[in-house]
Order: sequence, then structure tokens, then C-alpha cells
Amino acid sequence: MSKTPLTVNGREYTWPENPLVVVCVDGSQPAYIEEAIKAGVMPFTQKMLANGSDLRADCVVPSFTNPNNLSIVTGCPPAVHGICGNFILDPDSGEEVMMNDPKYLRVDTIMKSFHDAGGSVAVVTAKDKLRTLLGKGLDFTSGRALAFSSEKSDQVTLAENGIENVLEMVGKPVPSVYSAELSEFIFAAGVKLLESRRPDLMYLSTTDYVQHKHAPGSEGANSFYVMMDGYWKQLDALGATIAITADHGMNAKHNTADGQPKVVYLQEVMDDWLGEGVARVILPITDPYVVHHGALGGYGTVYLPEGTDMVDLCKKIEAIEGVEVALTNAEACERFELPPELVGDLVIISVADTAIGTAPARHDLSGLNEPLRSHGGISEQRVPLIFSKPVTPGAEQGRLRNFDIFNIALNHLQS
Ligand SMILES: [Zn+2]
Repeated sequence: MSKTPLTVNGREYTWPENPLVVVCVDGSQPAYIEEAIKAGVMPFTQKMLANGSDLRADCVVPSFTNPNNLSIVTGCPPAVHGICGNFILDPDSGEEVMMNDPKYLRVDTIMKSFHDAGGSVAVVTAKDKLRTLLGKGLDFTSGRALAFSSEKSDQVTLAENGIENVLEMVGKPVPSVYSAELSEFIFAAGVKLLESRRPDLMYLSTTDYVQHKHAPGSEGANSFYVMMDGYWKQLDALGATIAITADHGMNAKHNTADGQPKVVYLQEVMDDWLGEGVARVILPITDPYVVHHGALGGYGTVYLPEGTDMVDLCKKIEAIEGVEVALTNAEACERFELPPELVGDLVIISVADTAIGTAPARHDLSGLNEPLRSHGGISEQRVPLIFSKPVTPGAEQGRLRNFDIFNIALNHLQS
């Protein structure tokens, strides 16, 4: 196997000496691990951080799952890879569409590049919608690539996933899509894969079901982090280098007094100011799995008729209580490194304790059993960036991003 460093999307990556396991803990606001360690329930992680590196990084805004997972596995921002939400207004069709289709991903992943250069790679996700994006371009006939989700772990095939009989391998039943077990299954699979296949690169990406429901330090949150601590210990014991980050953070977005969601209903505001349906508010957090957030997040984009005074409208929107910033397409795409053709005329971001909605009737909150916690804005941008080994001096300088994780893990760790 050639050990020449690879260049992927303009960044160079050296080959790992030991298997590298990169973990994306969905919705892991830094306080989750901090509080769990303070409570003494993550003994392995506590030791790992003492011997390794405990850094913080900024994720991509919109601080949503897909834009960030794709940034992490490509090492570049959405302006380069193209995935800027779960849900967009397709510029070609004018239709509101899910962005799960791999056709929207414009570049190769780091996993694909290592695979094509002779390496072995494994991708395990919670939800299948993400698996198809993350596994794009992998040749499952080579015997060196596999990608599957715990959601559809009973439906894997060699042709589609590069592996068979996952349930047998993991020794667990298919978890519910709304459960902590959906994420636990990923780590259990990761341990088995490390034992049996020892891939050069493994990417494990969980779901934020727990973080949407439970605040840092709470029992519900801590028990989830206890579970992860146990699996990270096993991965470490098997000789893997471990790198951990999050796709985004998570904040409470409700009134503390009555637990009701705090929401700026932007379509209502626009209809009131401009006339019914003149503006079109798109919430890229929207997806079929709305139970834990009711499609309420910290980021919305607005399509407006030509000739609208965008700058003036931004000023008016910024004056609404609960709005952190309103930006024109050009301002937002420059600041957040987004593809302008896939973003509306305005980008609106709410403050930490408030969400952006369209209109009350368009959000099904019946599945929200706990007060709303969500993400999407600038206030959920800070995430952990953790390595089981110390980073080389200097590599921790400057603004770190969650999508620097492969770069640091492969190029800048001390052995
Ligand atoms: Zn997420």
C-alpha cells in the first residue's frame, strides 16, 4: 500500500499508524462532557483528556447535522462541499426538497480518498439519511469499505453497505430511531469492526435524541455519556487513536417559567409586513424526524421578490426581540462560508434561548415531551475537539474548526 500523503479538497493528510476513530457526538454542547467529568462519571475520558488534548472548535453555521457532518468528512466548509442544510429550496426546480440526495455533495470525502488509495474505511451513523451522504463514492465491492446506519442495521447488504449480518456481529436488536440505543449501537459496532477488520479510518456519527431532551449534567444526559465513556475505553484498548468532536451544540429554547418554546415566527412577521406569502421562509432544520425539535431551530433563510430593500429589511428584522442577526445572502455566505445559490436572500439567526419558526400552525409540537432544546445558530457553534494524544505544539493555535479534526488527528498528533 502506498503511504504517500493524500491531498483531499486542498488539504494534505498522512496515513495513520494505528486505526483512527473519528467520533461525531451529535449535539454535544461542550458542557455535556464537562459536566459528566465533573460528576465523575466519565473516568476514561477524564484520563484521556489529561494525557491527550481537550480543545474547543467552531462548527459550521447553520449549526445543523448534515452541513457539519459533511464538513467534518470532507475537511472543508459548505461553500466547497455544497451541503448547507437538511432541507432547501432547490434553485433548479423551485421546490422545497430534502438535501439527503448525494447529488448535492460536490466533493470527495476523506474516507473515499483513503479507500481509493488502498486504505480500508468504515462509516457507521445513526440515521440512514446521513449514511448515504457520508458513504458517497465508496466502492463496496473492494472489501475495504463499509457504511451502514443503526436505523437500518437489519437491512444491510454487501452491495449497498459493504457488510452483511450486522445484527449478528453487534449482538443487539435494531434500535428505535428515537432512542439512546440508536447511538449506542454505533459504538458497539465500532468496537466489533475494530476487532474484526481494523480499518485505517472509522467515522462514527451519533444522533442528538438525548441532547434535545436532556440538559448537560442531568441524569438523562450523564447516563448517555457514561455509555460512550465505556465504548471509548474499549476502542482505546484495541489500539485506536480517538478523535471526538460534535456537529453542533445545543441550547434550551424555552421559557424557564412555563417550559413553552420561545419562538420568532418569521413567516407570520413577513406576511404581516409584506403581505401574505410575499416572502418565503425556509427552515433548513426541517426533516422527517421532527419529534425532538418540531422543526424549530436557530436559523432560517428568507426568499424575497426582486427589488426588495434587503438591507432595510435586515435592520427591521434585527430589531425583533430574540433575533441575534439578520444578514443578506452575500453577508451570510461570506461570514459562514456557504454556497450563495443554495441560500435565500436573507439569513436570520436567533439568540441562544430562542428559535426561528414559520407560523405556529406549521410546527407540530405534539411530539415534544420535554421543553424545547435545539440548535442552528451562532450560539451553538462551540463544540469539543478532543484527541486521545497530545497535539503537536502550534497545531492548537488560531481558530479551530470541527472540520479540522482529520487534519489534526492525521497530521498533528504526538505519538
Ligand atoms: Zn446534529
